[in-house]
Amino acid sequence: MLLAILASALAMSLIVGVRYLIVSGAFAAATHAKHPGLYAGLSAQMRREVAWSLASALIYGVPAGVVAWGWKTLGWTQIYADIHAFPLWYAPVSVLLYLFAHDTWFYWTHRWMHQPRIFKLAHAVHHDSRPPTAWAAMAFHPIEAITGAVIIPLLVFLIPIHIACLGLVLAIMTVMGVTNHMGWEVFPRFMWKGPVGAWLITASHHQRHHDLYRGNYGLYFRFWDRLCGTDKGVGDFVKAHAQARVRRGGGGGGGAGADAAGRGRHE
Ligand SMILES: [Zn+2]
Ligand SMILES: [Zn+2]
Repeated sequence: MLLAILASALAMSLIVGVRYLIVSGAFAAATHAKHPGLYAGLSAQMRREVAWSLASALIYGVPAGVVAWGWKTLGWTQIYADIHAFPLWYAPVSVLLYLFAHDTWFYWTHRWMHQPRIFKLAHAVHHDSRPPTAWAAMAFHPIEAITGAVIIPLLVFLIPIHIACLGLVLAIMTVMGVTNHMGWEVFPRFMWKGPVGAWLITASHHQRHHDLYRGNYGLYFRFWDRLCGTDKGVGDFVKAHAQARVRRGGGGGGGAGADAAGRGRHE
């Protein structure tokens, strides 16, 4: 039995690690195509980001593997496979419930990790990326990785969810984790500006967290930040793109268009 649990945990770690490499790799390639040179001079940092992220993947695999084993062999969790087990309207509601619960957990644990002593111990690793890249999505100290790893395996015991909806939640989690750190905005303007953007978090919002070290603690929604007065608004990428130009050896170069676009976004 112990061996089966260990095998399940290792399999999950492998899945999380490979998923990270594929998604971060894809968005790093997209960054290279869209903003060539944006990650210039950051090779050592990116190697660090990959190493911390793969260590985090190992940690993420443990609770996920134990729960996956219990689901298969002992019928644990509220995950269901028959879409008609609940009314159809519940499927999108369950996705929103998971995202909101995850966001709530993230906001408060993240804010807690910004207390000076805990920051040094558990969260400085994530903020060592200056500026973060697409590879920083899972660059966490093991303590931070544990806080991130337990939440979805816990929620599947509490909130019923169809297996495909759970897949969607995990896909959203993965893509947002990467795109929030990659140094430019991939989403359409309405998602980070205007009435919808006022409540959603994308790179323009999280980038400001990495810039200021304070505020903008949320993950998917600006709800808690706005409610608790920690929302610092959306930023832009002008400074980061200018710094990339300096690292490349100055001059306007390919980043000029991107920077102009960034300036247009400035709030
Ligand atoms: Zn932080
Ligand atoms: Zn971050």
